Amino acid sequence: VGQPIEGANGYLTVNLSALARNYAKLSTLVAPAQAAAVVKADAYGLGAQRVCSTLYESGCRHFFVAQFDEAVELRPALAADAKVFVLNGLQPGNEEACAQSDIIPVLNSLEQWRRWSATAKRRKCKLQAVLQFDTGMSRLGVPPEERSTLAAELAGQVSVEILFIMSHLASADEFDSDQNNDQLVEMKRISKEFPHLKICFANSGGIFLGKNYHGQVARTGIALYGGSPSIGKPNPMAPVVELDVAVVQTRTVPAGAKVGYSGAHVTNRDTRLATIAAGYADGLPRSLSGRGAVYYEGRRLPIVGRVSMDSITIDITALPEGTLSLGSLVEVVGTHQTLEDLARDAGTIAYEVLTGLGNRYHRQYR
Ligand code: PLP
Repeated sequence: VGQPIEGANGYLTVNLSALARNYAKLSTLVAPAQAAAVVKADAYGLGAQRVCSTLYESGCRHFFVAQFDEAVELRPALAADAKVFVLNGLQPGNEEACAQSDIIPVLNSLEQWRRWSATAKRRKCKLQAVLQFDTGMSRLGVPPEERSTLAAELAGQVSVEILFIMSHLASADEFDSDQNNDQLVEMKRISKEFPHLKICFANSGGIFLGKNYHGQVARTGIALYGGSPSIGKPNPMAPVVELDVAVVQTRTVPAGAKVGYSGAHVTNRDTRLATIAAGYADGLPRSLSGRGAVYYEGRRLPIVGRVSMDSITIDITALPEGTLSLGSLVEVVGTHQTLEDLARDAGTIAYEVLTGLGNRYHRQYR
């Protein structure tokens, strides 16, 4: 693993030691709370099994996926003392498989709680669960009107062990947003209604909001993978991802040449072009057309014309002739262009870029 294969269209390099360093840093920040890893969507596109085994070796024991199928795939790859949680909740029909496979649902409603507790009673065994509450995002979690009934049903029951209560912050990456404090106040209120239960609240941004937000378990995703936890602030995390894409053809065109679909770019001088082997099917959004850039040894090479499905054309006139040829690699994400830079040019967020990169790159771990 980690050896580049000759002739790959592109290399997605995942730096596992940087991942481990990021986990250590976040763990220190939240201590004595535990840092849990959010590894949904194949660990944000980086490969859940490799990511999880590195994090497990770093001491992580809580792993959150979004969907049941993700948990089914991940669970057998992890040691028995690792816990795997399904954020999207308990789908009808998954109860037995969930219990049998030692997968822990995040219960998002009274109805989900009832089905899980009925499963425990039917199986005559104690099951574990997390309760998620809606503190103002209106997305997932027990709604306010179900809270008192849920609290009454939980009192004195022994069939389900509630490991912690959780909620999700909607604006944690925006340091100044009032919504953060509003959700914190609501979480504290809920915690009084469900006393003696641990709290799992912060995501990456939430960790940087301060101790109040840490509870006993903090769930972090993007910061582990080197993404920036807070908008407009210097990124304190070590970069984990590098993306290099191969040149598949170069050419020189005169002034007035049309480049790419719809002739959306017309050259205004003799121009040297290179076409690289990744497009919107490889997670480089079409919105980068005529806006974004790639880099070669620190030189910015603008994207010209439309991003195609499998290729992008770049202007390489700024480089000495002959610098790039078939198979040369250009940097899409790395030292000169962060995930956030690329996302900004594409009009989106680093999460969307990272999770969209797909599997046509040769993924290598170091
Ligand atoms: N918790 C929940 C419920 C989430 O949906 C996510 C990701 O979207 C996270 C935690 C992790 O968020 P982040 O990647 O910002 O740390």
